[in-house]
Amino acid sequence: MQVSSHSRVSGPSLGAASAAPHKLTALSRHGALPMPILAWTPEVARETAHLYEKVKATIPPIEWPFHAPYIKAINDLKKQRNAVILAHNYQTPEIYHCVADVVGDSLQLARIAGQSDAEIIVQGGVHFMAETSKLMSPEKTVLIPDSRAGCSLAASITGADVRALRRKYPGVPVVAYVNTSAQVKAEVDICCTSSNAVKVVESLGADTVIMVPDRFLAANVARQTAVKIIAWHGACEVHERFTAEELLRYRAEDPSIQLLAHPECPPEVVDVCDFSGSTAAMIDYVKTRQPQRVLLVTECSMADNVAAENPGVDFVRPCNLCPHMKRITLPKILDSLVYLREEVTIDEALAQRARRSVERMIDLN
Ligand code: SF4
Repeated sequence: MQVSSHSRVSGPSLGAASAAPHKLTALSRHGALPMPILAWTPEVARETAHLYEKVKATIPPIEWPFHAPYIKAINDLKKQRNAVILAHNYQTPEIYHCVADVVGDSLQLARIAGQSDAEIIVQGGVHFMAETSKLMSPEKTVLIPDSRAGCSLAASITGADVRALRRKYPGVPVVAYVNTSAQVKAEVDICCTSSNAVKVVESLGADTVIMVPDRFLAANVARQTAVKIIAWHGACEVHERFTAEELLRYRAEDPSIQLLAHPECPPEVVDVCDFSGSTAAMIDYVKTRQPQRVLLVTECSMADNVAAENPGVDFVRPCNLCPHMKRITLPKILDSLVYLREEVTIDEALAQRARRSVERMIDLN
């Protein structure tokens, strides 16, 4: 098994949303706009035809007339609002390929967001991702199309829990996975991602480190370092469902299949795979190695998104959906841009402490 620290961000230039110069009025910046008329017309068909080419392997022709009017309206409104859409690799193909300006994993999205000259960020992802974007771009308006888009990992721990851990293990540094709230990030020493967790843990120069909130990421890290890891008990409700037995059945059916696992999977699942890495690292693996058959042991929309860009690769798709990611839809993204909702705000004192934990991690790279 190989473990990679590679990552990937792709998509049109961040200037894309503002490529056509236009004058923003106070209303277009701050107020609601009229809801565009949504209709499947010859003009909409013509203007979205190139986007359908990207997703035709996963979206049947009969469904496209439903998506296309939203896609055209959203792409028009992005220009009017000077907005960019950041989409996580687990977003559905019509979002990922047709309205997103940047796609990638959560930290990459936040870092790229900070470099954008857009005034508004619409987060295609879950709430902690929108919070991280706000931390990295405090001057921008950050919107999440459905504020109920949570995460079982982020929900498993609070800032008070971290303070209790510090009392229980005095002097032991605390590392938080980026899949945590700003409140938790504000209480820890440093953040990590699935691709840099070992490096972050070892950078602290301590014999023992507390890792929150993912017990499986912590267990996978512990096997790669001499540092003793104290883990919190959280888990991703998508990745914890995979089992080694089911993956071995796929391998028995086709010994040539390549199994790629996210490090949020249990260690015994990672053990039977050929590769473990972040979502971005898995995408790189497929893109550069072009395996004949592959199974991505992660959220199932990712296989749809990667398949669209790798037509020569056969994807085997056990489907574990993230219900939180699926709360983000084209109609909600359109509402978000029309009505500027729902805005993500973070108390500035708390944001400063949380930002410091993220920046310490970034400074290590
Ligand atoms: S896939 Fe898992 S880690 Fe990602 S948002 Fe969903 S519950 Fe959270």
